Parts: sequence; C-alpha cells; structure tokens
Amino acid sequence: MKLLLASRNAHKAQELTELLPGITFVLWPTTAPDIPEDGAFFQDNALQKATHALGWWQQHGTEPVEGVLADDSGLCVDALWGGPGVLSARFATDLDYPTKNRKLLAMIPSEERRTARFVCVLALAPLQGEPFTVGGSVEGTLAFDHRGEQGFGYDPIFIPEGYMETFGELASDIKHTLSHRGRAARALKAKLGL
Ligand code: IMP
Repeated sequence: MKLLLASRNAHKAQELTELLPGITFVLWPTTAPDIPEDGAFFQDNALQKATHALGWWQQHGTEPVEGVLADDSGLCVDALWGGPGVLSARFATDLDYPTKNRKLLAMIPSEERRTARFVCVLALAPLQGEPFTVGGSVEGTLAFDHRGEQGFGYDPIFIPEGYMETFGELASDIKHTLSHRGRAARALKAKLGL
C-alpha cells in the first residue's frame, strides 16, 4: 500500500516507516505549501491535515497514492492543564529542544504532580471512501531534567510508566512497543488488515 505522508516532520516519518512496514510512504514535498492545522483537538487536526493534503495531491501530485496519512500528536502535562497538548509543536518555537524541555520543566511547580501522557491521532484519507482516525496514548511522568539523545522532541523528559529511563534514553524498539504512535500504528494496521 502506498500513502502520502502529510508531514514535514522527519522524525515522525522515520517512526511511522518503522512502525508500518506494510506501507510505502511518499513524503510531503519540500516545495508543497504548509498544511493547515488549526483545530482544537488532535483528531480535528489529524483529519484536517489528511483531507487538505489529499485535496492538494489530487491537483498537484506527481505519483499515484492510495490515500494520505496524517499524524497529530503532542505531550499533555497534567500540571499544565493538558498543555502544551495540540500546541506541542508551537511551544517556544524560538528555542532548541533541550532549552525548550528545560523551560517546560521549569513551569511545573515543585509540589505539583508530574504525570503526563503523549497522545497520537493518525488520520487516513483514502482516495475512495471516508477518512477515519485511530489513536494511541502512553502514560508517564516528567523527568527532572532533559535526559538522553534518542528519539526527538519531548522524548528526553518523558518517563513511560513502568520504566526509570526517558524515551530519550530508551532504544527506539522499546519506544515503539510503548508509545502513543506505536499504539496508534498498531490500531491502523488492525483496521487495514495489514
Ligand atoms: P504536530 O505536528 O502538531 O502533530 O506536532 C507534534 C509535536 O508534538 C512534535 O513537534 C513534538 O514536539 C511533539 N511530539 C509528538 N510526538 C512526539 C514523540 O513521539 N516524541 C517527542 N515529542 C513528540
């Protein structure tokens, strides 16, 4: 199965390629316009990205695909009332991730609970038929500092439940078995019969 991936995030592309070996991904061209995401929920954004990208590809696409896959994901921190959540990619965009992660940690009062979860919604807009979504999440706690170089984004400050290490310290195959994206990808595989 060949799908267009409606994302410019190379880390997401890498993870989805590893998680969904039955799918060949065509990457969103660097010359294509930005894909809008202005919904209030992960699901809205994932659907918006997939359907918008499909519309664009139907007019400008350079090779046939069977549909478009979009990923909307983020880190929801309980002490920040669920933030940065859907705005995870837009939090402190002027900072690199180590600095951004430390800034986020500094926003949590020392007496507050440190629980958090990663959420991922995958939307598939097929060429024929209705778009649909699947999702996944992983519970965990926030570390006290940025730890590890694996993964991307907020991985070095997130300790998945049952582990001592952050996603930044765990190997990618372990992250895949636990992660929000891993769970969503397995739900997608089941739905597609892959
Ligand atoms: P989106 O493009 O709006 O879905 O932005 C997702 C953002 O959430 C990313 O840019 C990261 O900051 C964060 N994020 C999503 N998934 C992960 C993950 O697996 N690890 C670390 N950060 C993630």
